[in-house]
Amino acid sequence: MTNRKEWNHAPDGPIQVSPLWQWPPKPLAAFRWYFDSWFIITINLCIAGLAVASYFWASPTLAQTETFSIGWITLIFARNFILLCVVAGSLHLWFHAYAMQGDDKKYDPRPFPRKGRMFTFNSQVLDNMTWSLASGVTIWSALEALVWWSMANGYAGTLSWGDNRAWFIAIFFLIPVWESLYFYWIHRFLHIPFFYKHIHALHHRNINVGPWSGLSMHPFEHVIFLGSVLIHWIVAAHPIHILFHLQYYTLTAATTHTGFEGLVVKDENRLALGTFHHQMHHRYFECNYGSLEIPWDKFFGSFHDGTAAADVKIKERRKKMMGT
Ligand SMILES: [Zn+2]
Ligand SMILES: [Zn+2]
Repeated sequence: MTNRKEWNHAPDGPIQVSPLWQWPPKPLAAFRWYFDSWFIITINLCIAGLAVASYFWASPTLAQTETFSIGWITLIFARNFILLCVVAGSLHLWFHAYAMQGDDKKYDPRPFPRKGRMFTFNSQVLDNMTWSLASGVTIWSALEALVWWSMANGYAGTLSWGDNRAWFIAIFFLIPVWESLYFYWIHRFLHIPFFYKHIHALHHRNINVGPWSGLSMHPFEHVIFLGSVLIHWIVAAHPIHILFHLQYYTLTAATTHTGFEGLVVKDENRLALGTFHHQMHHRYFECNYGSLEIPWDKFFGSFHDGTAAADVKIKERRKKMMGT
């Protein structure tokens, strides 16, 4: 071993080389080596890829969207419907229907899904799928169509790759930051007792969540949640940004509600999914309204970091809120 005192940080064992060049051959170890060096993916990167693919293979042209017509609107609806079914559906099958990962990295020990009269059709999965597909996908597609039409008619500015490449790329990074700001405030608004009771309670039927719970909302909540994309009436963008913006909201709603911290393959967490932060919001309600991109919860005292001390603080806060 090296003289560790000479280094601030050094690997624990001897440095490894690709098993492909070792004798006797270790095919499994070699496969693992290459798998590890290529399989570095994140949800944001996947969604950026999906947005680009959607633009080239499953979207109208800007010229087509100048006037509303059933053809291109159906294309948008069908693509969004399939996207949500593939993402939420496969996560549901993997984690819950077939329990491929068992309880590994599962937050809530209770089984999912549940049955009960609080759910539409008395079933959590059918309830969640109905609200997500019937209301969620419809409003998502309607807002997308509205922005395409606005761009085609000059009511919203358009930005092309050649206009400003740095800014074109920066918009992808700014959308999650904007989401963090926007979502925190509409979410707090939805927790005002009147709006909670009539609108947001539908999403909160899910105390133990699954991928289909993410977009399971009241239609009014879909309108204001996905209405975030109307920022592009002010901030000029390319249709790819619009696709990314809406797919980021809808598809990360599925991934963050998975109920598991991540996808484990060969004992390693390969893909970060649900956040404990939002999982706690579904359990305790009056904490963690936002996301971690901008820590609004920390600024406004509603942050639950998962520790016992935070638990006491949040319970006191709730008592105070009930008392007033
Ligand atoms: Zn809430
Ligand atoms: Zn939620």
